[in-house]
Amino acid sequence: MPTDPDHRPTTDARTSEEEPRVRFEDVHKKFGRTTVLEDLNFVVGRGERVTLIGPSGSGKTTILRLLMTLETLTGGYIWVDGDPLTHDRRDGKRVELRPKQVAEVRKRIGMVFQQFNLFPNMTVLQNIVEAPVHVLGQSRDQAAENALSLLDKVGLRDRADAHPTELSGGQQQRVAIARALAMDPEILLLDEVTSALDPELVGDVLNVLKDVAASTDITMLIVTHEMQFARDVSNRVMMFDSGRVLEEAPPEQLFSNPQHERTQKFLEAVV
Ligand code: ADP
Repeated sequence: MPTDPDHRPTTDARTSEEEPRVRFEDVHKKFGRTTVLEDLNFVVGRGERVTLIGPSGSGKTTILRLLMTLETLTGGYIWVDGDPLTHDRRDGKRVELRPKQVAEVRKRIGMVFQQFNLFPNMTVLQNIVEAPVHVLGQSRDQAAENALSLLDKVGLRDRADAHPTELSGGQQQRVAIARALAMDPEILLLDEVTSALDPELVGDVLNVLKDVAASTDITMLIVTHEMQFARDVSNRVMMFDSGRVLEEAPPEQLFSNPQHERTQKFLEAVV
């Protein structure tokens, strides 16, 4: 037996500090006959904030949706803390996991969508409380208490009993952020979360997210065209082109000194 008190069994990947939060290994994704991602490999470390940029159709949203298990892989593996997300490798073969196993890993991931996706027939509070009660098994009281403190955090405690249609787009998006955080995710996926908002509502949403980034160690994968936001919150920017990582670097480096002409052109067009 090792005598090192910090020794952790290497067979238990979840407890290994070496394991990145997310690992894409030879990930392949086809829609019908169209290949969107081909042999994609990358890792995201614990607590890292990575912004995915690139032209429309380059596969960024597909990457987030694969992590959220909203799409199925057509090849390769995605590992979360060393645990397989949807497919495992056994005896050299790729095997599909059982839905229960998938749900166990999937619980660690939260997502905020461009279109908020709140339940319209529920109040703000009910929207946030639902998943912690049904998925995490929290009591309603406990979930409601937590939801109210999250609403405080996003500046909407006084709208707990409102319905989504009574709120502005920016307020709905802040509720969606609170809803994702209520699941206490290890990983937060943000897919163009300000694209559907009127320009004057964008700042509040980004400020809430900056606050989340500053006050938690949640790992984030962010798809956005808000380059200042990417600069403010991310440690790394990955530029995608046709499902491949064209280049990656810390934001200050990638934005000021892009190595590829395609990245330069893309940045000129969005900034
Ligand atoms: P991005 O987020 O970079 O704009 P996407 O991941 O949304 O790119 O899309 C990548 C490619 O996959 C696009 O060509 C898109 O048309 C295609 N695609 C995405 N979702 C589907 C789908 N459900 N069915 C067919 N094609 C899809």
